[in-house]
Amino acid sequence: MEELVKEIEELKRERGAVILAHNYQPNAVQDIADFVGDSLALSRMAATTPARVIVLAGVRFMAESASILAPEKTILLPDPFAGCPLADTVDAEGLRRARERYPDAAVVCYVNSPAEVKAESDICCTSSNALKVVQSLPHRRVLFVPDRNLAHYVSRFTDKEIIPWEGSCLTHCRVTPEEVEEAKAAHPEAKVLVHPECRPEVVEAADFVGSTGGILRFARESLDREFLIGTEMGIIHRLEAENPGKKFYLLSPGLICPNMKLTSLAKIAQCLREMKPVVKVPEPVRSRAYGALERMLKAV
Ligand code: SF4
Repeated sequence: MEELVKEIEELKRERGAVILAHNYQPNAVQDIADFVGDSLALSRMAATTPARVIVLAGVRFMAESASILAPEKTILLPDPFAGCPLADTVDAEGLRRARERYPDAAVVCYVNSPAEVKAESDICCTSSNALKVVQSLPHRRVLFVPDRNLAHYVSRFTDKEIIPWEGSCLTHCRVTPEEVEEAKAAHPEAKVLVHPECRPEVVEAADFVGSTGGILRFARESLDREFLIGTEMGIIHRLEAENPGKKFYLLSPGLICPNMKLTSLAKIAQCLREMKPVVKVPEPVRSRAYGALERMLKAV
């Protein structure tokens, strides 16, 4: 393991590369990353880093976002099969057909989506800015793709009509309201922090609902000492590192995303050695998707 870490460091220097890792990545990958964050933070970092090569330790749509925002850089995805079942619930053709059914609706696209779907959308959003994005639009109706739980969460705070796409994250949907009740009974002092991709009944039982970045911030700033966490288990590594003395418990043992766990140190070393697999979003999809992401960054 030590040898592998040394090799990765050397390859990074040779290639002029940085490693950007999502909060859900395995602990060892988070530990060697140059930057760890949520998908929005990773996209911003991809666009601003002076590095020529980016190893995106995450899933495909994140590597695509990096390619959309930084087309001149080489984006490596250590495991080419690291996809996202939520992103896979929508494609460009399906979205075009839905647009025909709701011609007066704006299309808001959660970043957990394929590049070709972003290209067909009016504006993108993340789990932390979804409501602000929806409110920034002049439209009365919004077709929200692809996560129905995030769509439902947003609809609680707006008068606009939100038409949800029927996609969801299998990992976040594993948390049941019964598990929340059991966990609360076992840890009565703990605050419940969940991601809006969880089911509505789980979200309603939470003390705080937010993106992984929001959950990390809440835990840092809170005076509470115990927390029940309703998002992918990888985040516990950072929560514990940033909050010595505070206790974190997962709401469900099912909170593990198999795709996020496909990245390993061996695969990172291999992709830097071989400079593949490369993720590159082709034109004109890239510039159209860039437009939707840029409109989000301007709107919020
Ligand atoms: Fe996709 Fe869910 Fe895994 Fe995130 S946790 S990458 S939304 S399947």
